[in-house]
Parts: sequence; structure tokens; C-alpha cells
Amino acid sequence: MKKIYLACVLLYTNSLCAQITIDRDSGISQMVKKVSADSIQSYINTLVAFGTRNTLSTQTDSKRGIGAARNWVLKKFTEFSKNSHGRLTAFIDTVTIQPDGKRVNAPIVLGNVVATLKGTDPADKRIFIISGHLDTRRTDVMDKEGDAPGADDDGSGTSAVIECTRIMSKHSFPATIIFVAVSGEEQGLLGSTFMADKARRENWNIEAVFNNDIIGSNNSNETSIINNTQVRVFSEGIPVYETEKNIRKIMSLGLENDSKSRELARYTKEIGERYVDNLDVVLIYRTDRFLRGGDHLPYLKNGFSAVRITEMNENFTRQHQDIRVENGIHYGDVPEHIDYEYLRKNTAMNLSNLANLAKAPAVPNDVKIEVKNLTNSTTLSWNAPAFGNVKGFYILMRETSSPVWQRKIFTTDKEITLPYSKDNYFFAVQSVSITGNESLPVIPEVRK
Ligand SMILES: [Zn+2]
Repeated sequence: MKKIYLACVLLYTNSLCAQITIDRDSGISQMVKKVSADSIQSYINTLVAFGTRNTLSTQTDSKRGIGAARNWVLKKFTEFSKNSHGRLTAFIDTVTIQPDGKRVNAPIVLGNVVATLKGTDPADKRIFIISGHLDTRRTDVMDKEGDAPGADDDGSGTSAVIECTRIMSKHSFPATIIFVAVSGEEQGLLGSTFMADKARRENWNIEAVFNNDIIGSNNSNETSIINNTQVRVFSEGIPVYETEKNIRKIMSLGLENDSKSRELARYTKEIGERYVDNLDVVLIYRTDRFLRGGDHLPYLKNGFSAVRITEMNENFTRQHQDIRVENGIHYGDVPEHIDYEYLRKNTAMNLSNLANLAKAPAVPNDVKIEVKNLTNSTTLSWNAPAFGNVKGFYILMRETSSPVWQRKIFTTDKEITLPYSKDNYFFAVQSVSITGNESLPVIPEVRK
């Protein structure tokens, strides 16, 4: 299977304006084919059967509550580890949270269920994370007793994490992948904050976080739209982590739309659409939905690249609602409203991205753009990445008003001069592995 990319989309014609054909990596295609709607459905049914997964709920009941739910996720991860030749290890990472006067009213032992698929290259310290939240809520976020099925929010994201673990743990990658079902999202992003803060403290080399939250329903309640061919990827523009000085630099170079997280979002779109048929990955130029938040935020605050993946049309009669019927309207986040084929595609979109990133070499080093002379051409230079086998590099190019990269030029060199002005285009460079997997793009620094 092939996809043709980046035909002559620009107005100009010259020798560089050639088509590039990018083959799907057959190993990734095989894994994508293994993503099963039936497996995902069985995970959601099991999660819902715990009654509530509210973070404040019981941890001593073996059948009900967050404790039983997280033990079950750990059991699944442990099962998968048996086929991983010792590479997949799993545990529940716990922290005691004290009452905060907001959404925690008594001390709780919060637990994130973490599975780590260790990379095979000891020199490769990169980490890629897929995250979903295990916890759920009712209309009253403090209600820890009543049923809160959370099939979509966020049984869907948690199931995507479990299914990616099942399939990917049978394979090996040079870089490390972490699969995590966090708790405490609904009580204030507690589990992801614990994990992201720890990652910063311990200097983890996280290059990408895919936060999957509400990815399995194909319709809204207010409209007649039914759509299982589009999924949204939210990414921040100006990084929340940057200092004022860096923000001034970003603005002076016109790079407000080229944060690392936005590059990750563009990458997610390109790779997701390369491997998953009948799925458009829609870029949303926002950190999250209007005035709302999610588990990618603590990573952004710690300077990591992270995106939020969410279904195209949210159904607000489902989210954060007690199960009930009112004026003929059914409320509650129950499994009957999940589109498992849609959720399969969204899971496959995550898997293809994780696999392509973890198989790719590190990003190119010292990527520079020449500014010594005023000229209408653009010269870029770079060095080989710190690790990983490289067959060459892609130069990416787009008009300043284009949301996505429009051209991808392959070269085995480490310098290129293009007859296009840096005033009118953005450029970036990616490393490409022997098997054709590309790294995240690097925006060039100015070479004085
Ligand atoms: Zn959620």
C-alpha cells in the first residue's frame, strides 16, 4: 500500500517539485491490522462493570470502584508482558493526595497504572507516551458511590491504551514507549500532574505525549451529525512553558504556529492518515476545547510536547451525567453509545504514530537556517542525529498560511539550498530511518 504525498501543491514549478512516494512500513501496517474493535469493546464492558471508577471510590472492594479497576488494568498489562520477552514491565505508581479544599475531601492513595516497553537501543533515551484516564465521575464530581460508567470518558482512551499495549508489546522498538491509565483526571488532573512532575524531576526524555480523552462516540446530541471519519488533535500555539524572552524570539521569527506540540499534531495527522483508512485527523489550533482542560496540560507546563486527541462531535448528554431519562432524553456515559469501529480507527491512529516515532532515528542535530546575506533562496544545514540508523533526511516546506507541510524533499546530504525565500515559507528537517520512519521535525535555528 502506498500513498502519494506532496505533489506540486505550490504555484511554482521546478526540478524540486517532484512527487514523493512514501510506502507504508509493512511492520506498522501489520500492527495496525491487529487493532480489534472486539477487544476494545470487551475492555470497555469490563471497565463499566466496576460500577464507578471515581478516584475517591473504594479501593478495598474486589469488584467495584477505582481500586478493582486499576488492579484489572495491571492484570492486563502483566498478561501482555508474558509475550514481550521481558521488555514490558508494569506497576501501579501511587502517591498520597491530601485534601485540597476542592475535589479531594479526604486523603487518598492515587494510582496510575503504568506499563513501560523498554527500547532496544541503550543509547536511545527517548520516551513516547500514550495516556488515557481510568477515573470517571457523575454529575456531582464528589459522588463516589453511585454508578459512573465512563464508557467514553474515558473508557475509550483507557481501552485504546490497553489495546496498543497488547499489540505493541509483542514487538521491539529502539525507543521506549510508556502506556498509562492515570487516575484523578476528574478531580483536577492529579494523576497526570504526578507523572509529568516526576518526569521533569527525573529528566525523562519525553518527545511526545498522546492524551486520549473521549475518543469513541460518533455523534453529538444537538445535531443530526453522525461522523466516524474525523478525529480532533488539539495542540498549543505559544508554549505555556516558554520564558518571556523566548516568546519574543518566537514572535520575531513568526513561529507562533510552530511550537513543538503543534509540530507533533501535524506529524500525528500525517502518520495517522498514512496508516488508517477513512480517517481525517483534524488539527485544532487550541490547547484544549474552549475553557476546558485535560491530562496533556501538566506535560506542557513541564516543557514536554503533548497533544489531546478527542472525538469530532462530543455528546454532552453523556459526559459527566448521572444515568437517567429526563424529558425523553437519555443521559449517562453508557457503552451503548460507543462506535467501536470509530474507536478502532482512533486507536490505530495512536498506534501508527507511536510505532513510527519509536522506530525513527532521533531528530537531526544543529538544524540551522543561513541568514548571513539577504537572498531569495534558503540554505539549511544540519548534523546527523545522536543515535539511530539514518538513510537520509526530509526537508519540509510550507507557505506561511498553510496549516500542514506541503512538500517533503528527500536528501542524503546535510545541507540544501532551495530557490524559495525564507520570508515566504516555513522549513523544517526530519531524520529518516533505513525503513523509512521519520522523526519529529525540527525548526531551524538562525545561524548568525
Ligand atoms: Zn475525560
